[in-house]
Amino acid sequence: MNATNYDVIIIGGGPGGYTAALYCARAGLKTMVLEKLSAGGQMATTSQIDNYPGFPDGIDGFELGENMQKGAERFGAVTEYAEVTALCLTTMPKQVMTTNGNYYANAVILAMGASPKPLGIEGESALVGKGVAYCATCDGMYYKDKIVSVAGGGNSAAEDALTLSKLCKKVYLVHRRDSLRATKVYQSLLEKTPNIEFIWNAQIDGFLLNPNFQGLSLTDKITGHTYHLACDGIFVAIGRNPDTGILNGQVTLDSQGYICADETTRTNIPGVYAVGDIRTKPLRQVVTAVSDGAVASKFCEEYLQTIQK
Ligand SMILES: Cc1cc2nc3c(=O)[nH]c(=O)nc-3n(C[C@H](O)[C@H](O)[C@H](O)COP(=O)(O)OP(=O)(O)OC[C@H]3O[C@@H](n4cnc5c(N)ncnc54)[C@H](O)[C@@H]3O)c2cc1C
Repeated sequence: MNATNYDVIIIGGGPGGYTAALYCARAGLKTMVLEKLSAGGQMATTSQIDNYPGFPDGIDGFELGENMQKGAERFGAVTEYAEVTALCLTTMPKQVMTTNGNYYANAVILAMGASPKPLGIEGESALVGKGVAYCATCDGMYYKDKIVSVAGGGNSAAEDALTLSKLCKKVYLVHRRDSLRATKVYQSLLEKTPNIEFIWNAQIDGFLLNPNFQGLSLTDKITGHTYHLACDGIFVAIGRNPDTGILNGQVTLDSQGYICADETTRTNIPGVYAVGDIRTKPLRQVVTAVSDGAVASKFCEEYLQTIQK
């Protein structure tokens, strides 16, 4: 092995990636995490995580990310801050091309995440956590007994609206068309929920600020009429971007672009695993990402033993 050869390379330093790194390094595998930005991934962008067990007062997401990194590095995992630009996953060893050079490993764990799509409205990023949210399961509690809007018309928007209807006084489901894409079962549930109201054919033009978030500025796409909708926050549920561009067709994806991998985290390529938000799964959260990381290390270890025989 030369200096750039590893037993396992993990791409992405979010909670899924660093948990995989912790378990792999603790199992004695020569482990490297490649991260293009900073430890913690999406989690690092929120100041309060209340639904990760073990922190009775919640924890800052950035701090939790740093702690996860330190925990993995305590057992010898190495972090290299570089962006992975291309991969060759079917060779032995597997090749990982980055902005800092090439690395080689016998196994690769894909943990690049899937970030929520923004509305793309001016000022949106500055309002995250201050009126704009992307995850009802994560942030719904902050809007208990308040009035919220959900933007979107698919299953995620329907699920978020139903989740929020149990916490909030009123939920507006704002959609740019005149019917939902969500499956029928959601539609009848939404219609039967008294505190959910549909706002059809609505284009979101901007946020009402005074100086804090007060609501939305909308245009009716049929009549052209512009109007305001007062609410305390908006949950954006218009889809996610699984970060799979670097895979270049080597790994099987589902119709939404997520990596096809079940609870074992195994992909279609031997020795390649997918953990966290990037894989097909019903709930994308910190706790499910870390769980995947632990599982991936088990199958990774088994795989490395078989190829050494
Ligand atoms: C604002 C916000 C609030 C949230 N709040 C909560 C909450 O309260 N509770 C909860 O459980 N969940 C919350 N979530 C969801 C949670 O953060 C994610 O489910 C979790 O972070 C997914 O972990 P992951 O490891 O799969 O991927 P990510 O956290 O997305 O990490 C992926 C990492 O991979 C890196 N990466 C991607 N491509 C490359 C590349 N080519 N080369 C190198 N590195 C790369 C990225 O920079 C990133 O650091 C929140 C998400 C957001 C956006």
